[in-house]
Amino acid sequence: MSVSTVAVDASICSPLPVLGRDVTVPLVTGGTIAYAALDYAASAPALQRVWDDVAAYAPYYGSVHRGAGYLSQFSTDLFEKARRTVAEFLGCRADDQVVFTRSTTDSLNLLARVVPADCRVFVFETEHHAALLPWQDDRVTYLDAPRSPRQAVETLERALAGRDPYGPALVCVTGASNVTGELWPVRELAAAAHAHGARIVLDAAQLAPHHPVSLTDLDVDWVAFSGHKLYAPFGAGVLAGRADWLREAEPYLAGGGASRRVARRADGRVEVEWHESAARHEAGSPNVIGAYAVASACTALTEAGWDALVTREQYLIDRVRSGLAEIPQVRVLSLFGDDAPRVGVLSFVVDGWNSSHFAAALSAEYGIGVRDGLFCAHPLLRTLLGTAPQTPAECGAPSLNAIRASFGAGTPDEHVDRFVTAVRRLVTEGA
Ligand code: PLP
Repeated sequence: MSVSTVAVDASICSPLPVLGRDVTVPLVTGGTIAYAALDYAASAPALQRVWDDVAAYAPYYGSVHRGAGYLSQFSTDLFEKARRTVAEFLGCRADDQVVFTRSTTDSLNLLARVVPADCRVFVFETEHHAALLPWQDDRVTYLDAPRSPRQAVETLERALAGRDPYGPALVCVTGASNVTGELWPVRELAAAAHAHGARIVLDAAQLAPHHPVSLTDLDVDWVAFSGHKLYAPFGAGVLAGRADWLREAEPYLAGGGASRRVARRADGRVEVEWHESAARHEAGSPNVIGAYAVASACTALTEAGWDALVTREQYLIDRVRSGLAEIPQVRVLSLFGDDAPRVGVLSFVVDGWNSSHFAAALSAEYGIGVRDGLFCAHPLLRTLLGTAPQTPAECGAPSLNAIRASFGAGTPDEHVDRFVTAVRRLVTEGA
């Protein structure tokens, strides 16, 4: 299948307006070109709609939960409404909590702080470092990279079957890989976790921008995602899910906003009664504009319609993959094989090319922004590349890296077509 023959229903093919469409960048060959952002997996461009919403609200923002003035009240209402919008977007259950954080990394570190002290954690070695590293090392079982979704479930089941069935346990899995874009069998992994008395947290950093994510439908206990990958600007993320561990643990950060009552005791020490709501883990003045932007992005994606978004993205995926498949020097990295369902994220290496040089040439000669490196998933890259670095020092070696292109709701056809053409030309003509 060549790029030009991918069938598409024209009615669902308009990319959503995003910031940065008109940015032009210089080319080494002279002149300028409109920038093609193919690095959505790192940070997606904000939706124009989100930016407009934020701009409309910005003159009115005020302190949240701590002001008697009109704008403080207004902002508090908006902040709590944002929480409800996110809860709806994520299909939260009635007693779930939505905590606003800074990012997925922040959300997973928060969860790592609130798990019971004797909790065992199960995590695949293939995870992004944000999901791999927050857990206390002596409580973690690292699971080998599976080579199919079914193997992932079997590996987890085997590991859980061998654990102490009475202690608490948590499984942490990604919804979509930030390296291969492949979808993980979240519902099946959740069923396996629950069948063995464990809980499960979904790292939806790469899934939520591309597919609907519902705590209820997937039957996961928590979901974490980042606003800046979901077409909102930087600075806000979400941890949503079961309230009990959140409510029972010490606050993630101690301070104002998290405490309901603070008193000096007779012995001179300070006694604190912490909130039981999400505020318990949101000490300090919250990022109300960030939360508002995340909620605006949730609303915009819901209104655009997931069927249309998913169909359009699949069309782009097919277009890129079929184009790259015609270039024998390109090896697209995959854990689960060519037929695995995936989102608009793909990593590859090019025979005879240093990946960092290749990515630099895409930028300098074609105005295309991709990422090169190990994508904060070093063990996964080692599995996929075979030759990947064995020591932290080797991680800086560009010859061991890969190139990643990623796209989404704002990507026009021209960007992916320019990318495939540029890869072909670089491979055949050189830089
Ligand atoms: N999880 C996955 C799968 C990711 O791709 C990323 C970021 O690339 C993260 C977690 C961390 O996200 P953030 O940097 O927004 O905390």
